[in-house]
Amino acid sequence: MSQIIFGPIHSRRFGKSLGIDLSPGKKQCNYDCVYCELDPAKTMSDYSDVLPVSQIITAVKEALTQHGDIDVLTITANGEPTLYPCLLQLIKEINGIKGHTKTLILSNGSTISDPKVREALLLIDTVKLSLDCATQACLKKIDRMHAGITIEDIKQGMLDFKAMTQRPLIIEVLIVEGINDKPKEIEALNAFLLQLSPDRIDLGTIDRPPAYAVKPVSYEKLLAFTRLFDPSLAVHITQRKTATSKPSAYSKDEILSTLKKRPLTAEDIDILFDEESQNLLKKLLNTEEIIETENNGVVFYKIP
Ligand code: SF4
Repeated sequence: MSQIIFGPIHSRRFGKSLGIDLSPGKKQCNYDCVYCELDPAKTMSDYSDVLPVSQIITAVKEALTQHGDIDVLTITANGEPTLYPCLLQLIKEINGIKGHTKTLILSNGSTISDPKVREALLLIDTVKLSLDCATQACLKKIDRMHAGITIEDIKQGMLDFKAMTQRPLIIEVLIVEGINDKPKEIEALNAFLLQLSPDRIDLGTIDRPPAYAVKPVSYEKLLAFTRLFDPSLAVHITQRKTATSKPSAYSKDEILSTLKKRPLTAEDIDILFDEESQNLLKKLLNTEEIIETENNGVVFYKIP
């Protein structure tokens, strides 16, 4: 039972989160991403090991009783959670027992063109889907997907899903050196994401030892990529371990022109601005020349 539930994990963004693993026994995925934290495994279109819904619900009930004050239930898997064949029934049952607790799903996005998957995802409070590339050749190189998965189906499925929901849709993009870090790939992503208009884009890179011999890109490169996205898109850099920048001094005009080009998160400000510049930013907040906005748990500073 304890394998199905993991945590609680405390995060500034989501609060106290309990993870639900829909494939605790083995990796079951329709992708074989070069950056996966799990060992490489043969891709599949359906789970071969399927837990009964009742077993997952019993584990969730026990964990909720034990921990009491959980803010979010995060549905995930050793692999891809939306391949779980009873997802709709499971989500309905979770919604019946979760009380005020929110739900979040972390999916690789590959199944979003399936109406049954969309039906289940519509019942989840926050949906986070991955999209590493907007072209078929790039997707194949980085996510090494199961036969039959196409980027066009994924993109259309995301657009259809977005049109059906008012709830937050977050897109996660993971950048790998030498694969999807070329400006033309970022431009293709930008063009699609402008059309999709997700609530937020989380831009990151490899964090833990990957399945294959691939490398992360630097924080500075991620920051440069954020500038290739349209300023109307809320892009949040999620990975700062690779940062080598030293905090710099910014004048009032430099702060305003930087934020005009692209809103920055509180974490970016911490890395890029020295103490004096951070104090200047606070003054600009007081005079409302800069505003602070919150986007699904992430604070952005921007020009009003
Ligand atoms: S989708 Fe997730 S679990 Fe599947 S291979 Fe990629 S990183 Fe690993």
